[in-house]
Amino acid sequence: MSLESVLEEIRACRACAGELAHEPRPVVRVGPATRLLICGQAPGRRVHESGLPFDDPSGDRLRDWMGVDRATFYGHPDIGVAAMAFCFPGTNPKGGDYPPPKRCAELWRPRLLAELPGVELTLLVGAHAQAWALGQGARGSMTETVRGWRGFLPTYLPLPHPSWRNTAWLRRNPWFDQEVVPYLRALVARLLAP
Ligand code: SF4
Repeated sequence: MSLESVLEEIRACRACAGELAHEPRPVVRVGPATRLLICGQAPGRRVHESGLPFDDPSGDRLRDWMGVDRATFYGHPDIGVAAMAFCFPGTNPKGGDYPPPKRCAELWRPRLLAELPGVELTLLVGAHAQAWALGQGARGSMTETVRGWRGFLPTYLPLPHPSWRNTAWLRRNPWFDQEVVPYLRALVARLLAP
């Protein structure tokens, strides 16, 4: 088993066909050089259409937190993106997108991560990624998990989802912009330094 063969299988996966309102389109972007892995929730509609992870306003905010531009985000071989589900789960009529189908992580995540031995830091973007990676180590809420960010280093850094839906959260929790974002920028700069 190699990274390329796992990626080929993921790209061909249609396990959720019939449960989604659209044809599955797995979006994952990692390579043998991945050292900084970004683990979000699942692609949104825009990413489903473009096939490029975080190709939306959430991605713009995440890049700002990381201190990287689009060219670096998509072009630097050390940066990889593998969400908790690789396909757009659809829009919930009550608002927001449906959660990532659990099946995806169960089917693919252990196999994919096993082929990424160079990962030094994983950004856990949102509660789903935090629950999966931290298990019992996750605190009672996303806020508490992110507030305890220092305790998960150097392997993980938990972040809120950068969606506009969390703009009010960011206003209520100014410590995130004041403490976590500068740390993240310095960490990313150090990791990506030649
Ligand atoms: S979400 Fe994951 S398990 Fe479901 S079809 Fe897409 S790649 Fe397969």
